[in-house]
Amino acid sequence: MAAPVRSATAEPWRDPSAQPFVRIEGVTKTFGKVYACDDVTLDIYRGEFFALLGGSGSGKSTLLRILAGLEAPDQGRILIDGLDVTHLPPYQRPVNMMFQSYALFPHMTVEQNIAFGLRQDRLPAAEIRDRVRQMLELVRMPQLAGRKPHQLSGGQRQRVALARALAKQPKLLLLDEPLGALDKRLREHTQFELVNIQERVGTTFIMVTHDQEEAMTMSSRIAVMDTGRIIQVSTPAVLYEYPATRFVAEFIGGINIFEGRVVDSDEESGQVRIQCDALDAELLARHTDPLPEGTSVSVAVRPEKIDVHETPPERGTVATENVVVGKVRDIAYLGDVSIYQVATGAGAIVRVQETHVARSSEPHYDWDDTLWLSWEAASAVVLTA
Ligand code: ADP
Ligand code: MG
Repeated sequence: MAAPVRSATAEPWRDPSAQPFVRIEGVTKTFGKVYACDDVTLDIYRGEFFALLGGSGSGKSTLLRILAGLEAPDQGRILIDGLDVTHLPPYQRPVNMMFQSYALFPHMTVEQNIAFGLRQDRLPAAEIRDRVRQMLELVRMPQLAGRKPHQLSGGQRQRVALARALAKQPKLLLLDEPLGALDKRLREHTQFELVNIQERVGTTFIMVTHDQEEAMTMSSRIAVMDTGRIIQVSTPAVLYEYPATRFVAEFIGGINIFEGRVVDSDEESGQVRIQCDALDAELLARHTDPLPEGTSVSVAVRPEKIDVHETPPERGTVATENVVVGKVRDIAYLGDVSIYQVATGAGAIVRVQETHVARSSEPHYDWDDTLWLSWEAASAVVLTA
């Protein structure tokens, strides 16, 4: 998982007195029998780089189009900067949208593409010249001002589309899969650049993506969507460490999920004991609310939170709250890390991740090696939904 690149900023969503900049209130949109958006309520704050993350067809683009005014909701309201824009046409909203296809005019130069919206708005010529120059500098393209789109690389076209969208100085910029047309290497580079530009201009960005790594790397907060609903809204770190549901846990990063039943919960320590038949073990996990005995739950543990031992771990030296033994069934060497699949006697597969620090520490476990796996109660998340 890439480290978040965002600099530390205030977290207005933690401040109960902070006014949201964008308010989505109970928005529902159906197409025939399909609920593209199903009672969506969401607050977004000024200056955020907010991501709508979900699989294909989860309703992300529909929600973005409703914000832009390209689609009318069946129910609910949209407020931007305190103004109810629900019934305003797109051009009367302080919003601009950047499409995945970029939709650049092929017969116009870079400069003319960026100036297009400003000319339509009949801005004075000097103002247009100034803004186009600023935008060209912002996206580092002054030397390419005279080129046509077909004379540009994919990454350069993406930057022109961004410059054109920002030239109108919208209060809110909507980006639908903004990096979707770029290949993997260019996408990673462009992620950093886009965050950097957003921080410099300070405009509120709402981005749609199906790529969890992209959302994690770029966003201040993420709303995870599934079948038109918002499942969880949080910072990348909280989504990763404290997924609220199994769907979120499995959608964001790699994770082990073990089914089990609650044996008992200790309110004082906040620990729950869970019988897990597939591991033939009792697991200890942290959970804030007490759970009744017998409740069906899942225990989720990230592969990198699991320690690997070649002999049974001794109490007191390492975490022995959860210990499972198994044999190596598969090894994936990924350069910086190796992922081992360890099969337990009861038939469960546990994925563990070992980070390579020095060259000499490259995969040192082999197929059929017996390994003891251990993790702390605090590293496991109990999922009830
Ligand atoms: P996403 O952007 O997350 O892939 P969309 O918002 O495009 O999802 O679509 C959500 C659901 O609404 C899908 O089932 C899609 O088929 C449906 N849908 C979206 N737009 C239309 C439309 N104009 N007509 C009919 N169905 C639509
Ligand atoms: Mg879409």
